[in-house]
Amino acid sequence: MKNSLILLVLCIALFGCKKSATDKSGETRYKGNEYNAAGISLFNSSHQGEIKKAKNVIFLIGDGMGLTQVSAASIKNKNELFIKQFPVVGIHDPQPSEGIITDSAAGATAFSTGQKTFNGAIGVAPDSSSLKTILEECEELGMATGMVATSTIVHATPASFISHRPSRKQYEDIATDFMLTEIDYFVGGGKKYFDRRSNDDRNLVKEMQDNGYVVNDYFQKDFQDLKIDTKSNFAYFTADDDPIPVSKGRDYLMAASTAGMEFLKLHDDPNDTKGFFMMIEGSQIDWGGHANDADYVISELLEFDKVIGEALRFAQEDGETLVLVTADHETGGMAINSGSTVDSLKVSFSSGYHTAALIPVYAYGPGAELFAGFYENTDIYTKLKAAMGMPANK
Ligand code: MG
Ligand code: ZN
Repeated sequence: MKNSLILLVLCIALFGCKKSATDKSGETRYKGNEYNAAGISLFNSSHQGEIKKAKNVIFLIGDGMGLTQVSAASIKNKNELFIKQFPVVGIHDPQPSEGIITDSAAGATAFSTGQKTFNGAIGVAPDSSSLKTILEECEELGMATGMVATSTIVHATPASFISHRPSRKQYEDIATDFMLTEIDYFVGGGKKYFDRRSNDDRNLVKEMQDNGYVVNDYFQKDFQDLKIDTKSNFAYFTADDDPIPVSKGRDYLMAASTAGMEFLKLHDDPNDTKGFFMMIEGSQIDWGGHANDADYVISELLEFDKVIGEALRFAQEDGETLVLVTADHETGGMAINSGSTVDSLKVSFSSGYHTAALIPVYAYGPGAELFAGFYENTDIYTKLKAAMGMPANK
């Protein structure tokens, strides 16, 4: 990582030298204010065309993962986290369209559509009209798409990438929206919303199988024991409803995430030309915050951090993958208080809900530099598209 940064700085330095050397006037090009302006605009306009496009995006959302949550996990892990390796860090403002404290639905819809909306809204605008999501746009471009979550797959965060509903509680309706997309790979809980529905008699698992998906679940086989065929679309249900916490034995996040990266790279595309978009959610960091349970927060975050490490390893090897990590909001108003030691953190919470705290963004890979600085949560959508070289349409 360090090497590539040095290389980038070197390239920019060489580019600058070449320009001034070929200046026909014979005078040095950079003077006074002009020099300063050129000196600081390393990633702006004229250089942007030189930045390599991200072919693949791995977007990791730690639900409720504010800076204190990361701090606590870091202290508990001997000050070592993969998340601390990112060369580019920015900050987003998570406020929704109404009020100042967002929920996960409005938060994820901001990321997936570039529009601020009301709390509870899944992939819809403030007037409840449907907004195309970045996952759907990637799908239309022929890219492979996938999602892995440690909640149900119809829960607010993953739902906001694929569904369009005014209420996050419409779980069965959100499940039917999965039938309207061609998402290639997904893993999460919530099987009952697909095959034991109360609103209608549809069996969506059967419908998916009829549409060419290979569907498995935890009743039949552990994820780790599956042989995954990259030619067919793939779905795996990890629970009937919400998956259990990692501390109680949940063990699929790493396996499903790493298998997903390899699957999406080659799905329908043995020569690896089209690229993919993948969203991975550490859903239960938020639930630890709601429960004001520091151990719950930390164990979920440490598991999520290991997956971040695998995403970084994949991206480093692949060279065309942007890894983006952020949270939709902070949960619990978590604080690490005076008197804390490594062995005994004195943690307190000021809330059982989300807070309005600004949220860090961590980026690595082609286009990462776009994520430095201070911006709105909706800009993450715009920046992701810019990194992938997709035209801005809104
Ligand atoms: Mg969530
Ligand atoms: Zn929450």
